[in-house]
Amino acid sequence: MGLEDKIRRVTPYTPGEQPKGAGIIKLNTNENPYPPSPMVREALEAAAAGGKTDELRLYPDPAASDLTCAIASAYGLSPEEVFVGVGSDDVLAMSFLTFFNSDIPILFPDITYSFYDVWAELFRIPYEQVPLDDNFEIRAEDYRRENGGIVIANPNAPTGALLRPEEIEEIVRSNPDSVVIVDEAYIDFGGISALPLIRKYENVVVVQTFSKSRSAAGLRIGWAMAGKKLIRYLSDVKYSFNSYTMNRPSIEIGTACVRDGAYFRECCAKIRATRERTAEELRGLGFAMRDSSANFLFVTHPEVPAETIFEELKARGIYVRWWNRPRIRNHLRITIGTDDEMRTLAAALGDILGKTV
Ligand SMILES: *Cc1c(COP(=O)(O)O)cnc(C)c1O
Repeated sequence: MGLEDKIRRVTPYTPGEQPKGAGIIKLNTNENPYPPSPMVREALEAAAAGGKTDELRLYPDPAASDLTCAIASAYGLSPEEVFVGVGSDDVLAMSFLTFFNSDIPILFPDITYSFYDVWAELFRIPYEQVPLDDNFEIRAEDYRRENGGIVIANPNAPTGALLRPEEIEEIVRSNPDSVVIVDEAYIDFGGISALPLIRKYENVVVVQTFSKSRSAAGLRIGWAMAGKKLIRYLSDVKYSFNSYTMNRPSIEIGTACVRDGAYFRECCAKIRATRERTAEELRGLGFAMRDSSANFLFVTHPEVPAETIFEELKARGIYVRWWNRPRIRNHLRITIGTDDEMRTLAAALGDILGKTV
């Protein structure tokens, strides 16, 4: 056995580009165009003024109790039903490691968050990708068969398609012997959360994040909500890996962020309104798309290849997301920015299509 055979080699997840420079319009990683709650600014300023620097010599609270309790209280839960991590990517990775531990393949859609297959490969979890139907919808009945676990993004990414609460419940109910993870990164933009299911079924985990609806991708906070037993198993694995995942400033600022529910709901409403206006405008330019329940649109143009539009937009300083993958290589995923940004986008698209059609 040679050196290379003893090394765990993986094909990593490729995040969207993070271009820097004045005037760039970044619609490629589903960040929120609005700043986080003013309470976050206050917390940051208070931390800087209040001698918090000295506390950095101490390890943080391994349970991140302040943050866990703030999330629990915002969602009417007990702290034992909440697990926090460094972004939902951390929470999802820990959940894969904890809950997907059999030789039976786990199931997730063929078109979904492209981190799922990366974690499955990394942790050597067998998996099967279940094709979306021709409208890019998840069919709940496709998940009624033996499996080692299930992970569903709802709304799904990059399609923006939403399952109704009854459909999620049907998947959870028909799989009592597997853990079903519902990744709700985009739920605040127009869906109904599966959260009530955690008190009804012991096999469901709901994961959410600060990165999209709460305008704080840079903080790196995500969390899981589930029955106490699953949360305990998740914590046991985390403590066996790294006890101090959440740093002191994040815990403090995140706590302030989650307490301002009114602000984030207002931002979500603005984004939904911009999404509907943008959808109408892009349909006027000939783009086809399904309704989106997320903070992005998944669009295709009947005449101009997505790759061409992607490159032309980039040349104009507008970044959107394009994947060279089966079934979706003629689609673009466009994050909803401010009204101004979306007007600039529409004008650029008009210009590009005018030249190429
Ligand atoms: C953005 C996203 C996440 C991860 O977000 P974090 O920034 O790690 O919290 C998880 N799942 C889906 C489907 C996402 O789009």
